[in-house]
Amino acid sequence: MEKLQETRLEIDLNALRFNFQVLKSHLKPETKIMGVVKAFAYGTDSVVIGKALQDLGVSYLAVAYIEEGIRLRKSGIDLPVLIFYPQLEELPQLLEYKLTPSVYSFNFLRSLHQNLKTQGVKDFPIHLKINTGMNRLGFDPPQFEEVKQSLSDRETLKLTGIFSHLAAAGMAEERDFTLDQIQRFKTAVTSFEEYAHEHLLTHLCNSSGILNFAEAEMDMVRAGIGLYGYGNNAEEHFKLKPVVSLKTPIAQLRWIKKGESVGYDRKYVAQESRHIATLPLGYADGISRQYGNNNGIVKIKDQTAPIVGNVCMDTLMVDVTGIDCEVGDDVLIFGRGHSALEFDKNSLSIPYELITRISQRVSRIILDDQNG
Ligand SMILES: *Cc1c(COP(=O)(O)O)cnc(C)c1O
Repeated sequence: MEKLQETRLEIDLNALRFNFQVLKSHLKPETKIMGVVKAFAYGTDSVVIGKALQDLGVSYLAVAYIEEGIRLRKSGIDLPVLIFYPQLEELPQLLEYKLTPSVYSFNFLRSLHQNLKTQGVKDFPIHLKINTGMNRLGFDPPQFEEVKQSLSDRETLKLTGIFSHLAAAGMAEERDFTLDQIQRFKTAVTSFEEYAHEHLLTHLCNSSGILNFAEAEMDMVRAGIGLYGYGNNAEEHFKLKPVVSLKTPIAQLRWIKKGESVGYDRKYVAQESRHIATLPLGYADGISRQYGNNNGIVKIKDQTAPIVGNVCMDTLMVDVTGIDCEVGDDVLIFGRGHSALEFDKNSLSIPYELITRISQRVSRIILDDQNG
């Protein structure tokens, strides 16, 4: 009997622990760490990673949406959870599950206040989001006075934290821009601390900020991609270990002759006799069509093999000519020993996108060898 395994995403908690220590080694011992577990913990499993991070001693977790926070709460995680993009429709759940909202608009402030007032809640903690140059979300300096005014009027809300986001902390050539962001943030912190008459929990750094800007450390850092083993440049990648490995078995092998084609639209035509392996994963599993036609490289028996022809919905084909392999042999799409950057040979995307795209139909396997 052949032992066929299915397509799976292995999640290596030892690698997570290793990366956590690497990031931590860049910080002062007292600096708090917020573990970012949005988007299923970057495509892995937010509950598993959230609990592992809780055990490692993070002070906070962060997700994008309220629903993601509820998932953490329902699993028993009781750490403070910051919601980056709380949606108005889910405000009652935000309160019910004691999630901390990032506040970046007057509209949201108003609705949050109304909800809290109806429920008779006072001093609900919020973190204020400041725009320092990313120009995505956050209040700008000309709005600060109005923000303070709306907070003073509302005993329902308690400003406990203040944060901003670095746009290019992984780019050495944007160092001046980042230093300017840091300065703007510090100015905003001073302004709001004077208003609040107390110290606020300050946080600015993402993973690249942690690795490159000690001067931006503040009270807490928000670690995302680095925990999962990737960075924003070669030097950062080099320090870390990929947490996820996407694997699949060879479903079928065949030799094709010169002039024969592979897959839809006949995009690959053999110039000579070639050995082709069909793998049971496709764009519905998160391997985008852009990786077809020699743009994606997989690893089989420690040798590399390019994707040939177009990626299909549930399958893709690779050229394994010269590789001694059989049906059922495991193929590493990317992960430990063949990183997402090596898979994405022409840098069509970034590791963030590659790992968060792996669809939920791919089963997740947790590797947790405490002694490993
Ligand atoms: C996703 C996110 C992070 C984490 O960034 P990484 O580059 O993955 O470390 C931090 N802060 C905010 C606001 C985010 O949206």
